[in-house]
Amino acid sequence: MKPSLLLHACCGVCSAYVPEKLIPDFDVTVYYENSNIFPEEEFYKRQEAAKTMANKFGLPFVEPTYSPTGWFKSIAGFEQEREGGPRCEHCINFRLSETVKFAKQNNFEWVATTLSVSRTKNVDQINRIGHALAEMHGLKFLGEDWKKGNGEVISQRRAKETGIYRQNYCGCVYSLNDKVKQNSKSKIQNG
Ligand code: SF4
Repeated sequence: MKPSLLLHACCGVCSAYVPEKLIPDFDVTVYYENSNIFPEEEFYKRQEAAKTMANKFGLPFVEPTYSPTGWFKSIAGFEQEREGGPRCEHCINFRLSETVKFAKQNNFEWVATTLSVSRTKNVDQINRIGHALAEMHGLKFLGEDWKKGNGEVISQRRAKETGIYRQNYCGCVYSLNDKVKQNSKSKIQNG
């Protein structure tokens, strides 16, 4: 029997590749904890995309309740930090903490996350947080760098071929605002 693993998945794109790397060795369940996402409709769009990919891999998919209040509390004081800084540390910690708690309550042995498939994410930060939280609850964290071996390119290509929703900003309201600013700046520059 394969060991059980709860895979935190942040969106459909990131769920398009990582499961196939895990399925040969683990009994995988996908867990969509992303209360960071703004606005709420965006949360459900990404959830639907992640669920489509889980179904394609034949994996169970767990949909926790959208709870932005808890997420906003977790990043309080760090709202205006740049992407990749302390706000993201708290954001990742919040989502992985919720994932690890669910894994503990439901007798999973391992926890992992798809987050490191993106080149914009700091793999050391993600894996450090994941290992610490899992250890705290007596679980094991699989700290891989999923973008190795072209993971991000394969994920994007597969997501496009499948026709699932593909987002163009990280997820929170602050990353959305940054994206809007960037877009209007390039519009002005391009005349
Ligand atoms: S930019 Fe992304 S990782 Fe950072 S706080 Fe926002 S949603 Fe979380």
